[in-house]
Amino acid sequence: MSAGERTNLPAAGSDLDPGREAARSTPDVDHRAVRTPDGRRRRMPDSAETLHRIVIVGGGAGGLELATKLGDRLGKRGLARIDLIDRDRTHLWKPLLHEVAAGSMDLGVHELSYLAQSHWHHFRFRLGEMVGLDRRRREVHVAPVVDEAGERIAPERIFGYDTLIIAVGSLTNDFETPGVKEYAIALETANLAARFHRRLIDSLMRAHVQDEPLRPEQLQVAIIGAGATGVELAAELRNTTRDLVSYGLDRIDPDEDIRLNLIEASERILPALPRRLSEAATGLLGKLGVRVHTSARVAEVLKDGVRLADGRVIPAELVVWAAGVKAPDLLRNLDGLESNRMNQLLVLPSLQTTRDESIFAIGDCAACPWEGRNENVPPRAQAAHQQSSHMVRQIRLRLAGKPLRPYRYRDFGSLVSLGRHSTVGNLMGALVGGNMMVEGYFARLMYAWLYKMHELALYGYTKVTLDTIARLITRRTEPHVKLH
Ligand SMILES: Cc1cc2nc3c(=O)[nH]c(=O)nc-3n(C[C@H](O)[C@H](O)[C@H](O)COP(=O)(O)OP(=O)(O)OC[C@H]3O[C@@H](n4cnc5c(N)ncnc54)[C@H](O)[C@@H]3O)c2cc1C
Repeated sequence: MSAGERTNLPAAGSDLDPGREAARSTPDVDHRAVRTPDGRRRRMPDSAETLHRIVIVGGGAGGLELATKLGDRLGKRGLARIDLIDRDRTHLWKPLLHEVAAGSMDLGVHELSYLAQSHWHHFRFRLGEMVGLDRRRREVHVAPVVDEAGERIAPERIFGYDTLIIAVGSLTNDFETPGVKEYAIALETANLAARFHRRLIDSLMRAHVQDEPLRPEQLQVAIIGAGATGVELAAELRNTTRDLVSYGLDRIDPDEDIRLNLIEASERILPALPRRLSEAATGLLGKLGVRVHTSARVAEVLKDGVRLADGRVIPAELVVWAAGVKAPDLLRNLDGLESNRMNQLLVLPSLQTTRDESIFAIGDCAACPWEGRNENVPPRAQAAHQQSSHMVRQIRLRLAGKPLRPYRYRDFGSLVSLGRHSTVGNLMGALVGGNMMVEGYFARLMYAWLYKMHELALYGYTKVTLDTIARLITRRTEPHVKLH
């Protein structure tokens, strides 16, 4: 019987009670690969035995869109079984993290529960962090899940796959700079962005109530790395700190007392983007009073500042590390899969890893050749989005036993948001006749559209339209900046 004939797919959902997983025989458990606590392997019922098992690790910009689309197209009709594994319970589109950090976005409004999404879109969510892989047995190993008090929620688990898609994203790269781990915050997850926001509010409150003069580092922020993340955060912070102070913290002068320093090792900000874009952004940041330090390499992060390689010290109470990108260390030598210096998995144009045709990688964690160029596809949300769409087609071809097709990256350009005042960017492609620089309101609309595309892929038109209207209404009755 072919996979397409099967209709008895177990109900979508999650391993809510995974502690008993290894010992029970309900259909939401992958018995083909589960081991009992005494090490024995347990078999699954015949009905689910031949259903193609697709496991996606990482529910970010690429992985969650993929799980949603595959669930709707294959899971719903019983053509395959789709499991999404993520170490977090909720998803937030990462390009919004600087807004969470600055307080212009309420995490609670925009984060999406994996559990709810899996229920609505016919896949199953598995909470946990992938820690290993057994390619010979086709098994993904997931670490035990513990709560904040250290109590175990789920034991160590093993999930079997027929097709595995790794989409674990990337992290910042601190290049082992001393002091980063102790004193800087990296904008890598929603939790870290929210932590930065709490520290920002605390430092404003502290400065507001104290009688003595401000210390040199007080209310000074240092953002290390002037790529899109650093630039966007600096601009957003200027706007939100003005707003925050206007809610009664009137002993602080936002423009005089709060100093924003953007530190970049290259000779210009936005080094990966066209020069004229970086010049436009520099001008706009200057108007916002952001101090830009270029050709400034950070040698060490201190408790109360940042020491540069030339010996200068920039005092700072809050330090954000926004430089460099690398994939998680897990991928370095993951059961023999080929990886590069940035820990990315090397993939063929089909998105299959170079050493295992059953394992694919998409998004930031994949080193995917950029056709016609001597470089890889850049780690961007638009690449993750395109690759997830391409993966849906690849899976259909794979299930049908047909040859896979190469992925071709389409670069639509880059947009950098400078708070509510402006956005700059360059649009690329046939639609704009090559490469067009954009700025102002139009660029802002295009920037907002990027997030809408992600929302549309996850929720569909009706929900996105209703949510957008609801947010427009509540925005009139709530503070424009998160105060707690
Ligand atoms: C602050 C910031 C701003 C950005 N702004 C832009 C922008 O304006 N435009 C743009 O194009 N790109 C931007 N990017 C880059 C963009 O966010 C990424 O390219 C995109 O999110 C990559 O998608 P992904 O699916 O590969 O990984 P992610 O979206 O990073 O998702 C990875 C997922 O994997 C999970 N995970 C990680 N390790 C494991 C594990 N071992 N086990 C289980 N789960 C795991 C994580 O919890 C996460 O849910 C920005 C990034 C940041 C951090």
